[in-house]
Order: sequence, then C-alpha cells, then structure tokens
Amino acid sequence: MGQIFELIADSALTPLDDYYTECHVCDSTGIGLYAYQGRHYLADGTVDDDIYAVCASCILTEKLAHSCDFEYIKTIDQYISRQELSDSQKSALSIALIAKYQHTPGIPLFMQYEDRPLCCNDITEFTGHPTDREMLYHKTENSIYWEKMIRAKPAIYNFRNSGSPENFRDVALFKCRHCKEQYFTFQFT
Ligand SMILES: [Zn+2]
Ligand SMILES: [Zn+2]
Repeated sequence: MGQIFELIADSALTPLDDYYTECHVCDSTGIGLYAYQGRHYLADGTVDDDIYAVCASCILTEKLAHSCDFEYIKTIDQYISRQELSDSQKSALSIALIAKYQHTPGIPLFMQYEDRPLCCNDITEFTGHPTDREMLYHKTENSIYWEKMIRAKPAIYNFRNSGSPENFRDVALFKCRHCKEQYFTFQFT
C-alpha cells in the first residue's frame, strides 16, 4: 500500500517532469506534482476544469474529479452490483470507492480510459509496469486479466507466443491488498 496514495505503490508513483511547475489547484511551486486531468470544485460553487497537474496534498484533500470519470464509475458500480451486499451496503461502498478513485492521481499512460481492477470490495493498488521481458512473461502468466471486469485472457496476450507488445508500459500491474491476488490490464499507448 503506497505511503502517499493508497492505490499507487510508492515505487510506481512518478511525479511529472518539469513541464508543469505549479499545482493547478493551490498554485504551490517547488513540490512534486502528479498527473490529474479533471475538474476542481471550488468553495464558491464554480468549477475549474483546466486541471492537469496537482500536488499530493490537494489530490488527497480537495474536491476533484477526473475527466470522463463516469467511465470508471460505471465499472465500479457494475462490480458492486455483482457482490452479495444489501442495497444500503452497495451504495455506501460505491460512495467510498468513487471517493478513493477521485483522490488518486491518474495513471499517466492510460490514454483510453481509466481501468483499475476491483477485488475484495476494493480498488486494487497499481504496482507499475513490467520492466523487462521476463517480468512481462511472469506477471501476465500469473495474474488475472482485467478489462472492466475479470475476463478470459485473449490469446494475443500470451506474449511468449505472440511476441512482446511495442511498449511494456501498455501492460499495467495491480495487486489486491486484501487477498494479494495480482491483476493486469492491457491498453495501447
Ligand atoms: Zn496543490
Ligand atoms: Zn482480493
């Protein structure tokens, strides 16, 4: 479990490079900034939707929402609808998981849509990308494939046979902090 963000392992957490110099929420400079494309709801009721780089403290405490968050909220609610919970438990869990998601930076190379595997009524922790071929094989052969839900792994992701993807970063790795199950997703960058 990450020390800064619960859903991102510290080793997988990379501050943005120096293209952005100040937090788009609090304007602080000289601090680590993280990718967060979305909206900031201000106290006066207005919304600033020109948000790309945010400091850790603002991500954790400010009222922010990711762009296109409805996509992943749909994934969360589909997952919850299949759990054996009462209606009130389901709505409380939905509120808790959506809040956790909104208080986590984006995974920079997820270009298509946000998709973090869900397990044990929680969102799994992003642990990084494979860094070499051996790790790619090992992780994708010993992790559950996730694409908005648990799915059978398409044959093309048997990388030992089909060849490595163009970019190892197309594969994102996740781990459930409750049962330790590992997952991976695949998205072309
Ligand atoms: Zn800030
Ligand atoms: Zn689990």
